[in-house]
Amino acid sequence: MLTLNLESLWSEFLDFVKTKQSIVEYTNWLAPIRILKSSEKGLVLGVPNIFVQEYLLENYSKELANFFPPDNSGNLPLFFIIEEVEEPKQEIVEEAQQPVIERDSVFELRLNRNYTFEDFIEGPSNQFVKSAAIGVAMRPGKTYNPLFIHGGVGLGKTHLLHSIGHFIHQNNKKLKIQCITTEGFINDLVEHLKSKSIDQMKRFYRSLDVLLVDDIQFLQGRQNFEEEFSQTFEALINQGKQIVITSDKPPSQLRLSERLTARMEWGLVANIGVPDLETRVAIVQHKADKKGLKIPNSIAFFIAEHVFSNVRQLEGAINRLGAYCRMCGMDITQEVVEKTLSEMLQFVPKKRITVESILKSVASMFNVRVNDLKSTSRTKEIAFPRQVAMYLAKELINDSLVKLASSFGGKTHSTLIHSWTKIKKQMENDEKLRRQITMTKQNLEI
Ligand code: ADP
Ligand code: MG
Repeated sequence: MLTLNLESLWSEFLDFVKTKQSIVEYTNWLAPIRILKSSEKGLVLGVPNIFVQEYLLENYSKELANFFPPDNSGNLPLFFIIEEVEEPKQEIVEEAQQPVIERDSVFELRLNRNYTFEDFIEGPSNQFVKSAAIGVAMRPGKTYNPLFIHGGVGLGKTHLLHSIGHFIHQNNKKLKIQCITTEGFINDLVEHLKSKSIDQMKRFYRSLDVLLVDDIQFLQGRQNFEEEFSQTFEALINQGKQIVITSDKPPSQLRLSERLTARMEWGLVANIGVPDLETRVAIVQHKADKKGLKIPNSIAFFIAEHVFSNVRQLEGAINRLGAYCRMCGMDITQEVVEKTLSEMLQFVPKKRITVESILKSVASMFNVRVNDLKSTSRTKEIAFPRQVAMYLAKELINDSLVKLASSFGGKTHSTLIHSWTKIKKQMENDEKLRRQITMTKQNLEI
């Protein structure tokens, strides 16, 4: 009874693991394990090598303990015997390859579901690369091969790579797509080397229709892996299979063999740049919409203006803003943005400068009263600082001159221009005035 139970528990455990693992990983690591014996003491499992046993125990210790409760000393009722099995592996490989083709799950491909062409906002900095990516996705292997996308961090390389994967998958479920980071490829290789199943891996990669490789820069300085990658690369390209590669640098700047560099330049090398302000505004709006956040245009503009190095930061800013507003139940206003994103804004937002704040600052600098500055007094002690205030208003406030002038007790715009010209000229020779104005400005901007 108990022994039967253990066997069925093992198959339940495998069913469970299948739902959590990629089919490739499952095939490589779990499928080769066989039940050799089931007794009251536990299950005796046959593994092809120690790595499989270690993999199982390291990666599934918690789950195993749930399925097979440990004894009082914490030992699982599982025992391992390393079997020398060469032949069955072949069968496993054949079996394994079928389901990969037939599996109709995008998640098997490990694509981020948000990274689609529809969600990739276009602008002058990425139009070219996006259309190249769409071209490749529409006719894999038939346009640019390989497509090499390079650009700085957080600019959408991975997003485009996954978009290609989604698009191809949606249009042709039969095509075998593998989307992998370079680190993932290296890890895969290490694992297959350990388990002496490198041929299996080679066969798998060489049977692909589309290989999407992210962050090839991680292949630099890893010659053994580079060699293996080059071979896979050539095998696929020679069969007309599509390859797309992303990198933080163009091929010529990568420390890779000349041969691989030249291969990577065979197709199309496309750069993805930092999006301009308008594109950033569109990205902010798009990301906010997707999150159900309402961001007024002026605020989207403010965020895009102050977070400009890359899109990932921009997205981080929106996420943060969204979380804050939801938590505090507040609307998104300029004040909320400045408060929530203060460390993210790429230059400290200047205090809003108004005529009122200029008058205050000038009044204290020249030791007069604000009301005097606003009055019609023409005495020199008042008129001069008033002219300085007008000069500063024109310099620092982006508003119509008529409106600015009227804030100085109903002056005309020609008075404002006259004052500005006079002060500007005087500053050329008046060191003291220059200092006073610089200090007034500093006080205003703190
Ligand atoms: P990279 O791989 O170049 O470092 P990612 O592709 O990971 O950058 O992009 C970072 C984030 O910015 C992702 O969440 C991505 O969706 C987003 N992103 C980048 N560019 C765009 C764009 N043009 N439109 C919409 N989102 C973008
Ligand atoms: Mg990336």
